[in-house]
Amino acid sequence: MEIQNFQFAGEALADVWNKMVIDGHEVYAEYIPPSKETVEASVSSSQEWYCCHVRESQYLLQIVKCRDSNCCSLYRSNLQSILYNGFMIPPYPLIQENSSIIIPPSTDINVKFAPLLTRLAVNIQPSSQIYDLYCPSIVQEIQNRTCSFCKLYFASKKNLQTHQKVLHPKIPVDSARVRSYYKAIYRREKEASI
Ligand SMILES: [Zn+2]
Ligand SMILES: [Zn+2]
Repeated sequence: MEIQNFQFAGEALADVWNKMVIDGHEVYAEYIPPSKETVEASVSSSQEWYCCHVRESQYLLQIVKCRDSNCCSLYRSNLQSILYNGFMIPPYPLIQENSSIIIPPSTDINVKFAPLLTRLAVNIQPSSQIYDLYCPSIVQEIQNRTCSFCKLYFASKKNLQTHQKVLHPKIPVDSARVRSYYKAIYRREKEASI
């Protein structure tokens, strides 16, 4: 649908330009559809970009700059001094049990989320960075919305399928690219845990 809409916009634009005369010269404009390979390459690279810059959840969509200066411009704020990779960490409760602080299981819904600064200060993390983990109406869906390869969570099964189709194809199209993608994810997670 996106490709069709793009073509429609391209043809409409060509129509407008075709009616123009610039410096006494008639303008000829034509929409040239991109090749299948070009479309596939752009869908693939946009999925890689999406994984680095976007986190989805049922009621929250976060789009942030990454730390790669070749990709994104520098942050104008010092947000990264609080949130290492720019993403808000998921909400989760913290409770005192015996002599330690723990994160209760997501089935325990009678607890309050700990404030952001407390979650950042206490050196324990939930097993996954899933924002909807404590959302009772969605908890059943979480497994179906989480990528089994890179553990990224999506707000819909369809988005997960698009992600997996492009980045984890059954027959790797470009295994070197996929390997470098995994290395980047691993490196970011390792840096974030320091
Ligand atoms: Zn970036
Ligand atoms: Zn994945």
